Amino acid sequence: MSIQRPRSEQLYGEALQHIVGGVNSPSRSFKAVGGGAPVFMKSAKGAHFYDVDGNRYIDYLCAYGPIITGHAHPHITAAITQAAENGTLYGTPTELEIELARMLKAAIPSMDKVRFVNSGTEAVMTTIRVARAYTKRNKIIKFAGCYHGHSDLVLVAAGSGPSTLGIPDSAGIPVSIASEVITVPFNDINGLQLALERWGDDVAAVMVEPIVGNFGMVMPKPGFLEELCRLTRQAGALVIYDEVISGFRFHYGSSQTYGAFPDKQAIEPDLTALGKIIGGGLPIGAYGGRKAIMEQVAPLGPAYQAGTMAGNPASISAGIACLEVLQEPGVYERMDALAVQLTDALRQSADRYGIPLAINRIRGSFSAHFCDHPVTNYDEAQDTDGEQFARFFRLMLDQGVCLAPSKYEAWFLTTAHTESDIEQTIAAAEYALKTMAQ
Ligand code: PLP
Repeated sequence: MSIQRPRSEQLYGEALQHIVGGVNSPSRSFKAVGGGAPVFMKSAKGAHFYDVDGNRYIDYLCAYGPIITGHAHPHITAAITQAAENGTLYGTPTELEIELARMLKAAIPSMDKVRFVNSGTEAVMTTIRVARAYTKRNKIIKFAGCYHGHSDLVLVAAGSGPSTLGIPDSAGIPVSIASEVITVPFNDINGLQLALERWGDDVAAVMVEPIVGNFGMVMPKPGFLEELCRLTRQAGALVIYDEVISGFRFHYGSSQTYGAFPDKQAIEPDLTALGKIIGGGLPIGAYGGRKAIMEQVAPLGPAYQAGTMAGNPASISAGIACLEVLQEPGVYERMDALAVQLTDALRQSADRYGIPLAINRIRGSFSAHFCDHPVTNYDEAQDTDGEQFARFFRLMLDQGVCLAPSKYEAWFLTTAHTESDIEQTIAAAEYALKTMAQ
């Protein structure tokens, strides 16, 4: 079976004339997988996409993470419809915002106070401003390959999108700004210690994806987060967790409340940035943390942050509805079981055809790297076979399985994926890997 996409190709030609690069986010282009027209989707329902040529795909892209209940989930659709009927934007507070804030606080106890924004980028950007305001210091330490959105400070040694495109630093960011950022390898506690010894007095915050989602799915090594928090506090800096991907992805909560980490107190951050899932598929971001730190934010404190669209009733309603679905018993366990089935089969097929494949699975999400070594940091993720991935990606796409067009991105399962989807995906992967081995 090979899918034809003449209409996508035609639309891409048109898009190129009007939209820069034909896409509204660089990671949507197929540049990293050999170029050509990306697939133009027309609709999506449950775990499936339908493109403009009428082809069906099983979706593991899941919009780069926000889609966890499948597309057009009836409970979320009803909440959005109700919000639209009630008016989409007031510029005043609403009761809904309190409800979602309560739900986030209950699930992530390190957040005494919350503020809603419109994207993960905004959430992260503001945590940095707040940390700087609170500590009265300037520098930030981040980890190579972790992506924290596209604001100036964190677009240095960022993850999947920029690294895929080979842009270590974006043009347009003054050297003076980049010099405020120190980058350390993920999972390298000695590297962090050295950076803190050298610059500690100037460091406002250490920013990390506590479970990485941007150079594959990568767990911190045992003790890494505990030591990170201890050393950072010792230096008088704040710990910021970017949980834009990891929030509500692996369980009902975030990395900091995840069962894999036994000592929750030892890994508690000062500030947390959220996005993606908490908006149920509509634009959202949120940040929160300890009361004394959050009180730096206007109107209480001197750190200014605002937003015309922030906390809009449609996004908030979708977020509440999404979290309600995720509270249903067994939803994470089901995603977990399907991901085990899929990754076991992928590994068996890869072994059968002698293709080295390193799979990092964290519950219902995983990354599959074409390499013969483990992937625990960005260097190891870079040292994987992009051409092999591109081939695999296209062979899967042509059989109706949609992955992210980058070797760094994860596969996400949703509550809507079924055993039949998994079986079809396993068959497609078996064919793809067999073809690659020939
Ligand atoms: N932080 C992380 C960990 C992300 O993965 C992303 C986006 O992929 C962001 C922040 C930025 O979020 P947004 O694209 O909503 O601005």
